[in-house]
Amino acid sequence: MPEKKTKFIVIAGSIMSGLGKGIVTSSVAKLLQARGYIVVPIKFDGYLNVDCGTMNPFRHGEVFVLDDGTEVDMDFGTYERFLNKSLPGRCSITGGKLFQRIIEKERKGEYLGRDVQFVPHLTGEIKDWVQNVGRENDADIVLIEVGGTVGDLESGYFLEAMRQLYFERDNMVFIQLTYVPSLSIGEQKTKPTQQATRLLQSLGIQPDIIITREQENLADESKKKISTYCNVPEEAVFDDPHLATVYELPLVLEKQGVYRQLARKLGLDEGKEADLKEWHKKVSRIIEPKERPLKIAIVGKYTAVKDAYISVREALVHGAAAVNSRLEIGWIEASDLEKIYDVAEVLAPYDGIVVPGGFGERGIEGKIKAIRYARENKVPFVGLCLGLQLMVVEYARNVCGLEDANSTEFNKKTPHPVVDFLPEQQQISRMGGTMRLGAYECVLKKGTMAHKAYGEEKISERHRHRYEVNPEYVKKLEEQGLVISGVHPKNNIVEIAEWKESFGVATQPHIELKSRLETPGPIFVEFMKAAKNYREKPSKSAGETHGE
Ligand code: GLN
Repeated sequence: MPEKKTKFIVIAGSIMSGLGKGIVTSSVAKLLQARGYIVVPIKFDGYLNVDCGTMNPFRHGEVFVLDDGTEVDMDFGTYERFLNKSLPGRCSITGGKLFQRIIEKERKGEYLGRDVQFVPHLTGEIKDWVQNVGRENDADIVLIEVGGTVGDLESGYFLEAMRQLYFERDNMVFIQLTYVPSLSIGEQKTKPTQQATRLLQSLGIQPDIIITREQENLADESKKKISTYCNVPEEAVFDDPHLATVYELPLVLEKQGVYRQLARKLGLDEGKEADLKEWHKKVSRIIEPKERPLKIAIVGKYTAVKDAYISVREALVHGAAAVNSRLEIGWIEASDLEKIYDVAEVLAPYDGIVVPGGFGERGIEGKIKAIRYARENKVPFVGLCLGLQLMVVEYARNVCGLEDANSTEFNKKTPHPVVDFLPEQQQISRMGGTMRLGAYECVLKKGTMAHKAYGEEKISERHRHRYEVNPEYVKKLEEQGLVISGVHPKNNIVEIAEWKESFGVATQPHIELKSRLETPGPIFVEFMKAAKNYREKPSKSAGETHGE
């Protein structure tokens, strides 16, 4: 078979960061995927970290994990949620990875006799990398999102590689994302876009398509101006307006005719219809759900930075859409719960409680209080990674009577280390990429809530942790009624635990990472069903104990 000629789309942001390049990239990819093309996104991040595994979520947002264990930027979560497919770690290119590679090669003598330069060595490495990812994944189209903003020192050499690639191939499109501010309603300013395009042109790149963000919809007048000043035909200037949900963007871009522009430039079949019916249906369930809103509390540590829990939030969005309900999230700072005597004051209005993953001691006791409240009041509960470990700590303390039980992450001297270091973690001294990472198999016990949710015995979910439920305490916990519903088949690590009396399921893997709009995480769907029933049950429900 002749080798497929992969096409490339580069998406770069100008003027400022935070314009939602990841969502635009995912939406454009969705329009192509909906026409049957195999699409693969790549993200370039200019920082010199090899990956973002060692970055603080406060600074950088959530660390996303792929099946193969690569720790990546949270944009990968968006790609996977939109495209409903798992991506390989090779799709993530960072400044750190590139330089590590070049220096390793130099030390091996692969450039013997030459001085190693940004051009052609580094740019060559980049071009090979993106083309190889296309080949390895049999891609029809590779989308390359360039992190940061055009003009940043960090991404200059990467854009230069893209310029060269554009020059060498005839099947490439360059999309520039810009921002059009308004001084007052109806007074849109296109000058920043004009200047940003000049900056791009000074790097030798002429955008084929411009997509704009703004406060209101893009005015025709602004579109004309952008076209005239930026050398882009009017029909290739598109609007990325404020939307009720990010999942609506593919539909909005489809209506504006983005595909036609791409098809012309890439030599694709212009008349090919998109199949977005199912997508449309799901999006309407988010925008106009039929059922009453469900209030879910996320009790966390990074609640001031919503991006730190973006996959958790999205998994809840998917779950709520699956039960046709609107989602209302309450962000609750765990350390605040530590200060109040009766957490019902804060938690009573909620139909469900989530304790997400996390590291470090701050807020731990607040999270344990929230879990105890959920268990005692039969409020539907989901725990994720640290959420599972704390569910076990709470159960050990308050049901099994193991006073001061804890995880050794928070108290090395606890008399009951019910959560302890994974054996393989004992010897590790390097921080980067050394956790238990990526997809592991989990075997579910028949008859449990987890088994009911997944409807199968063997599942695979993604991990990112150093601690586990201490096997020495499993018998005791089970004797006292905690259900261990999922274990790793080889070394018996507790992967899922649940309560018997009410809906409470906690997982060592981050099940939120694989939840997608088209295939919501099964536990999140069951959780939402339980949340919906929580106040609707005619029997004496916990709602009454809150005096509601
Ligand atoms: N800090 C815990 C551990 O390392 C939980 C990690 C997490 O929630 N991702 O095991």
